[in-house]
Amino acid sequence: MEIACLDLEGVLIPEIWINFAEKTGIEELKATTRDIPDYDVLMKQRLAILEREGYGLPDIQEVIDTLEPLEGAAEFVDWLRERFQVIILSDTFYEFAQPLMRKLGFPTLLCHQLVVEESGKIVDYQLRQKDPKRQSVIALHSLYYRVIAAGDSYNDTTMLARADAGILFKAPGNVIEEFPQFPAVHSYEDLRLEFCKASERDLTL
Ligand SMILES: [Mg+2]
Repeated sequence: MEIACLDLEGVLIPEIWINFAEKTGIEELKATTRDIPDYDVLMKQRLAILEREGYGLPDIQEVIDTLEPLEGAAEFVDWLRERFQVIILSDTFYEFAQPLMRKLGFPTLLCHQLVVEESGKIVDYQLRQKDPKRQSVIALHSLYYRVIAAGDSYNDTTMLARADAGILFKAPGNVIEEFPQFPAVHSYEDLRLEFCKASERDLTL
């Protein structure tokens, strides 16, 4: 039995924080783990900015609702779901992903959660677990699934390494260079092909 695990941001949808920063004009929200490596420090800063700018969860969801999945993403997910059970493994939050998951037909999503007051103010966040993508692959292996995974960035590489086959999709050059063991593709057509190659079944495009 085979299962497909996909990263979300950068693979199926745009980077939520960067696009939210662009839509709202709040430049400081463009900071990522590349600028502030400690995720906890980064998230605390983001939440403080949201509070200062007066954005509660409903306002943020309204902005995120104007974003669209990457072109061809919905069709790719449909194609994949006809051939594999599909699980999205993401470091985003359910509350942020919701509007975009609707546009992808609500595939199964494992990610993190925000702590939101009744007023809509985001006061904290809860990470599901440490190294959640890799842990998910380990859990699926305990259910005797063969795992094929695809992702675009550093936070995916432990998942790709633990999977039976890992694929880099739309990854930046430095990630491709640092992880030459994974095939790297940039279009959904080529990604379909990599899933077919990685499968032990005789799949057709
Ligand atoms: Mg990503």
